[in-house]
Amino acid sequence: MPHPFDRDPFDSALFRRAWCPLAPRHALSALVLACAGLAGTLTLLAPMRALAADSHGSEPAASGSAEPSIRPRLKPDLKAVRGEVKNEAKPEAKAEPKPEAKPEVKSEAKAEPKADAKADAKADAKSPMSMSDLRELLDQKIAEVRSKQGAAPAVKVQSRGGKGGRAPARGPASGEAAAAHPQGPWSYSGETGPAHWARLKPEFSQCGSGQRQSPIDIRDGIPVELDPIAFDYHPSAFRVIDNGHTVQVNLAPGNRITVNGRRYELTQFHFHRPSEERLNGKQFDMVVHLEHKDIEGKLAILAVLVAEGKGHPLVQQVWNNLPLEKFTEQPGLATIDLTQLLPEQRQYVTYMGSQTTPPCHEGVLWLVMKQPATASAEQMAIFARLYPMNARPVQPTAGRLIKDGQ
Ligand SMILES: [Zn+2]
Repeated sequence: MPHPFDRDPFDSALFRRAWCPLAPRHALSALVLACAGLAGTLTLLAPMRALAADSHGSEPAASGSAEPSIRPRLKPDLKAVRGEVKNEAKPEAKAEPKPEAKPEVKSEAKAEPKADAKADAKADAKSPMSMSDLRELLDQKIAEVRSKQGAAPAVKVQSRGGKGGRAPARGPASGEAAAAHPQGPWSYSGETGPAHWARLKPEFSQCGSGQRQSPIDIRDGIPVELDPIAFDYHPSAFRVIDNGHTVQVNLAPGNRITVNGRRYELTQFHFHRPSEERLNGKQFDMVVHLEHKDIEGKLAILAVLVAEGKGHPLVQQVWNNLPLEKFTEQPGLATIDLTQLLPEQRQYVTYMGSQTTPPCHEGVLWLVMKQPATASAEQMAIFARLYPMNARPVQPTAGRLIKDGQ
């Protein structure tokens, strides 16, 4: 089937080159008029109108056979240009262009009105407009359209890149497990107390600015069936240290838990008095924090609340091995078996939080056992002589999801 233009004496390419050199590339209402005018004087009215109307984006009046083959070739380009013409046609009529054009490209929106104003003034001054002026005007508009079309994706890419660049900056709390309670100028009261931690050192800033801090008052958790924590604890060599903030027990490798398909190695455990976390508002006499770290350095801290009751053999073993001096590790005389510390019922509550001591890094998986262990009043009194109060106040939950294992 022959192309419609093959039969047309005013072949489109030839016609455009001869009479309407800008038409193939762009459609502007001014050009419609110019071409129509030219066409009229050359008495080529009927065939030209069909071409001009179509290539300039308005609905064709006639020549149905040429229609289907022309439109698909010209439309994609014209749509964009037509939109531009509509936007700019209004300011042209008025003396002052409105700044509303293209608010999404801010940097260009400022520069644009001036360029339009110049062009418009030029267009108004000369009437009728010569072909060379028209071409110049169109070239100017074309350049604007192209720069906008080119600029838009660049803006998007930039913003996406910015987000992507920031996201990895917030990494896991790595390398902190061994120094969960590092020596530092902080304490639990007065000028260096929890309310001032964030300003004591730049690296403590998260203690003040963090949004997922610990401890929290654990309440309103969603009741769900949680995967049981798989404990792989063994009698282990240990060393006890009074690090200035708590009594801490450092452990030889080999004690692990698996939770949510992730394996964590137990590195140390330590004590707080009273308990830092609360369960439905209830604060316990003490809490033991068992700090685990996975292969990527992410922390999972298992909390075993301690209520006053029957004496605890493991607690007693730790007290028995207390070093005489602070900041000095005391090797344990025997091995320690952490399974002794675990409650009979292993249901737990879990949420995402932070270290409860400076630098308060977040991204910590908290696993709080619901059933408390017990220690005797005498055992607690021994710790109280060293640390009568070493618990950070509860922090805002701030809408965090808490899962309450049934
Ligand atoms: Zn702790």
